[in-house]
Amino acid sequence: MKSAFFYQGVMAAAGLMLAVSSQAADAPNLSNSAFQQCLNTLKNSSQFRGVSASTFERYRPSAPDPSVISSLNYQPEFQKDVWDYLSSLVDKERVEDGIRAKRQWSDVLRQIESRYGVKAEHVLGVWGVESNFGQTLGKKPLFESLATLSCFDRRQSYFRGEFANALKIVQNGDINASDMTGSWAGAFGQTQFMPSTFLELAVDFDGDGRRDLVNSVPDALASTANFLAKRGYRSGEPWGYEVKLPSGYWAASNRKDKKSMSHWRDQGLTLANGSPLPYDLSSAGLLLPAGKDGPAFLVGKNFDTFYSYNASENYALAIAHLSDLITREDSSKTDFITAWPTDDPGISRQEAKDIQQALLNAGYDIGAVDGIIGDNTRKAIKEYQASRGIFPADGRAGKKFYNQIAANRATSQAPASAQSADRIGQLIQQQSPKASSTQTQSAAPTTIAPTARIGNARYRRERGTDGVVRLVRVDEGQ
Ligand code: CA
Repeated sequence: MKSAFFYQGVMAAAGLMLAVSSQAADAPNLSNSAFQQCLNTLKNSSQFRGVSASTFERYRPSAPDPSVISSLNYQPEFQKDVWDYLSSLVDKERVEDGIRAKRQWSDVLRQIESRYGVKAEHVLGVWGVESNFGQTLGKKPLFESLATLSCFDRRQSYFRGEFANALKIVQNGDINASDMTGSWAGAFGQTQFMPSTFLELAVDFDGDGRRDLVNSVPDALASTANFLAKRGYRSGEPWGYEVKLPSGYWAASNRKDKKSMSHWRDQGLTLANGSPLPYDLSSAGLLLPAGKDGPAFLVGKNFDTFYSYNASENYALAIAHLSDLITREDSSKTDFITAWPTDDPGISRQEAKDIQQALLNAGYDIGAVDGIIGDNTRKAIKEYQASRGIFPADGRAGKKFYNQIAANRATSQAPASAQSADRIGQLIQQQSPKASSTQTQSAAPTTIAPTARIGNARYRRERGTDGVVRLVRVDEGQ
């Protein structure tokens, strides 16, 4: 999808991109006259040779979008740990969505597998991580984003090529102009291809004559398979395995240093469950995402094709792991066999939403409850921790904080999600600094979330005669 040269070290997956775009710093002032002058120059430049003047004028933006420049220069305040990254990308919900998608598209996936030689679950793994099985495509108008990036700040030459390619896609009639929305950087559709990747690798699989990666699932899935095949995918091979290192063994994580399976057997490595290593990988490299004390993997060429989708090993591991869980059709346990070396593991998107809702209800302005832990949510967590003497007040949204904010007051018979909703609801009612009582703050809580959804339950905020604001469940006869 994304050009490796651009994305390396800049960002990782679609989810993170959304966080970046919504959390961008103050947007710069961009001169529209300079922008229009730049577009006049581009229109006649060699990079836009394949784009007709009428196409160019038809989709020419009337003003630049400064927010994409903020996103381009955004520096995350926190570095995400690999376990945080994996737990939000490979959670129960996504595995279940993947199993459903596999059943729904089984005929198409079978045809794709026979034409491109790519295993159905590997295609599904990419689809799930890239666009949440077609649910998260990005909403930024592509022409505005790419034109702005073509005329301001860093990497203009790269973005000019992508802007020209985006115009060609519409000019060819593959995709409707109104469907050309995506990430701030121009990745779009269910495969989140950049326009250049689209022109190189998109295919029409449903036979209507258009390569529509926005509206056609068969086109999107086949284009993903074509991408993997063209990047060197080996039919019939697994991506790799979780393995166990012999005690005292040390080697650097180096996915590219591929060795035979006999080599790794001789070194004493086994599968993570202790079984002998199989011989169905032609060669494999060792991947240690969190050092020697965390989960270890032997990865083959197919893992590298996942990597080439977004130039991030953690991202490729998310695709690999999701595809394994979809293959097993088991969403009950999304962890690896070896635990991550941390006492504060990551949380699912649902748990992230629960935390955000609890913070919102407690009067913290975290923006939308989207399950994406960005700078605003981290800042609110930090303040929440500081106000309650929780040490360290580091703003980290892990299992520890989830348990702290959810407290431990489960009602006995309720299902798990309702239990956590009740726990959070009770906690807010008792501990919220801004939701409790004082006159000066009376306007704030009622305007923030008149009815709030926590887990599967809905709550209404109500001020009692004692002046204390409480959350009252509204889906149980009030
Ligand atoms: Ca088509």
